[in-house]
Amino acid sequence: MYKKSNQFADRIQTLVPEGAYEVLAKAQELETAGKKIIHLEIGQPDFQTYSNIGLAGIRAISTGHTRYTPSAGMPELKKAIADYTASRVNMDLAPRQVVVAPGAKPLLFFPMMALLEKGDEVIYPDPGFPSYQAIIETMGAKPVPVPLNEESGFSFDMKEFEARVNERTRLVIINSPSNPTGGIVGIRDLTIIAEAAQACDFWVLSDEIYSRLTYTEDAVPSIITLPGMKERTILVDGFSKTYAMAGWRLGFGLMPEDLAHKVGLLLTHSIGCTAGFTQLAGIEALTGPQDQVNKVCRIFKERRDIIVNGLNEIPGIDCQTPLGAFYVFPNIKSYGRSSEKLADYLLDQAGVALLPGTSFGSQGEGYLRLCYANSKKNLRDALEQIRIALNKI
Ligand code: PMP
Repeated sequence: MYKKSNQFADRIQTLVPEGAYEVLAKAQELETAGKKIIHLEIGQPDFQTYSNIGLAGIRAISTGHTRYTPSAGMPELKKAIADYTASRVNMDLAPRQVVVAPGAKPLLFFPMMALLEKGDEVIYPDPGFPSYQAIIETMGAKPVPVPLNEESGFSFDMKEFEARVNERTRLVIINSPSNPTGGIVGIRDLTIIAEAAQACDFWVLSDEIYSRLTYTEDAVPSIITLPGMKERTILVDGFSKTYAMAGWRLGFGLMPEDLAHKVGLLLTHSIGCTAGFTQLAGIEALTGPQDQVNKVCRIFKERRDIIVNGLNEIPGIDCQTPLGAFYVFPNIKSYGRSSEKLADYLLDQAGVALLPGTSFGSQGEGYLRLCYANSKKNLRDALEQIRIALNKI
């Protein structure tokens, strides 16, 4: 039907803001009115970009790396990414499979644009990163959420997964370690997903942006390494979390060459290219010393233990110990209030900004998400203020 100029396309009708930005706006209003707020809502490292990386970016600007680069990334960066990821997941990967973009988000958006037709079904985690559902719907595909199972460390509920896979399934999204739960999908579940991918001929998008922020001895398994999966996996990763570079906007994906070529064309006609000085800073991040990443991981682990122990000491809260990322996802069902009401209450009464689990899907009801990328003092103060406020309920 002909659309009037004041109407928008159907594909964007269901778009809503990300919960974290809404809570941030509310928190900032309270701050303007003079209230002190501890911010545990936005998910980004609280550290500055490591100095060797920052200096590489400054050097690149001052030596004139301020022109267009190839759309899908500079060859030197693609090589560094292929080598880095090959060594992380322990398999051969080629620079031709790499696509670089401004952040990991375009590597969710453009591969989905390249693969999805109207009516295709896409399975994704609920609770999960809100952009998955938004992008699936923007592409006119059908979102098929699969609940996560708290008892199994917030992996997919595999029974529910198997019940939802069918011949219309075009893509399955995995996020391990996960936002918002910090959970990791183990090799047994990955094997079931990989076997289903081959039996039903679907793609897998594996969002591994938190893969370096883990608190176990073992490396996080990646589905791309399983037999037959290199041909049907899009591995998404980036610099925002691992190297504290959220504002630089730098991410990457590894995928079969023919898909990489098509995604590169979509980048040519949308973003053009990623800033060259950002890419040169990225090369320094991957090939320079890694001791900062390891140090920050140790700090996050100490903070995780403070927040998990502190939350579990509060009567009525039950918090799992996540193995990755910088989030906790405590169960608050015993309070008998909706997650949203409890999150609002804690913002007003405890001065702690955190997110209702429902910001990440309907299965997040009964949970809150707290980001512990914050100082130990702020975490301890937040825990004390939450304890006092919940005691009054
Ligand atoms: N995937 C997940 C699971 C995330 O949590 C985020 C950032 N919050 C992204 C992707 C996007 O990362 P970037 O900032 O690099 O676009």
